[in-house]
Amino acid sequence: MTIDTDRRSFLARAAALAAAPTIASLVGNAMLSSPAAAAGATDLPDFAPVPPSALGPALNGSGYYVGRIERNLYWVTNGTYIAAFLTTRDGVVLLDAPPALGGNIQRAIDEVTRPAGLPSKVTHLIYSHHHSDHIGASALFGKRVTRIGHTETRRLLKRDADPDKPAPDETFDDHRTLRIGGERIELHWLGANHTPDNIFIHLPGHRALMLVDVLMPGWAPFANLNLSEDVQGALKAPAQALKFPWAHFIGGHMGRLGTRRDLEVDQAYTADLEAEIRTALAVVDPAPYFARYADNPWAAVKTYLDEVVAVAIAPVVRKYTGVLAAADVFADSSAFVLAQSLRLDLGVGQVVQD
Ligand SMILES: [Zn+2]
Repeated sequence: MTIDTDRRSFLARAAALAAAPTIASLVGNAMLSSPAAAAGATDLPDFAPVPPSALGPALNGSGYYVGRIERNLYWVTNGTYIAAFLTTRDGVVLLDAPPALGGNIQRAIDEVTRPAGLPSKVTHLIYSHHHSDHIGASALFGKRVTRIGHTETRRLLKRDADPDKPAPDETFDDHRTLRIGGERIELHWLGANHTPDNIFIHLPGHRALMLVDVLMPGWAPFANLNLSEDVQGALKAPAQALKFPWAHFIGGHMGRLGTRRDLEVDQAYTADLEAEIRTALAVVDPAPYFARYADNPWAAVKTYLDEVVAVAIAPVVRKYTGVLAAADVFADSSAFVLAQSLRLDLGVGQVVQD
């Protein structure tokens, strides 16, 4: 291992620690600080090392990195979350506002705009979807910024009424072209995937596509197949993304941008996982589980599905360890969700009784 790799893994660890409060919000801070959780921390399991290919650039002293994507399009990351922004003669167009980046978003914008003599004020804020972890710093940009998002994003944000993420003022249903400061941004809604409101943000003049929470370049999916609300939609989304012309992929996570190759690897990963689940469903005999727990169908189904998942993920974890970071971490929960989608969406294993 080179010194550079050591430094990069240290920086990645530092970034992960900095992101701990954000990650804690996924499970609830109270759980993380409970004595029971602290006691359990003494026998934590080992996981495969994170390959250097999953890591992004080093963060600065404030805990962020800002870099140019193409021309006047930039990205900013804290190592786990990514936002992007477009600097124009009329102001800044911000794409997402993750709370984990928070005040560092404006710092990154100032770092880029001031030397160029461009306005640093965010005039437009585009929401990728309604989730707080990607837009929960929206209120930092005040009341006068124009917020733009999908109609369903507006409905969900109105419903949840979180003052940190005001509902978009301007909405669209299927497609909308924005022309701001001489730049073109194409917003597309192509069906539900990670959430019902998740959109594709295409910047043709910058050869860039933003699609958040569908895949994380360099990393295996997060829990429950990236918490997909529509699993079949999420599985199709990389192919939909590849139909657009682009060279730079902004996935919202982790510490680096993606390439077309990253989307192809993700497609191969989910295809392999699906194939192994289909095989496991065919070879794991449910009879012993239902015999052992004859009076408790939940126990029978749980132990049977645990075995299906274990059989399905073993070859996938082996194949992708060293290719995708954390291939061994969430494979079980993603396999479970994918197995349920095969059963419930595609009807696999459903038998119509006589
Ligand atoms: Zn999300």
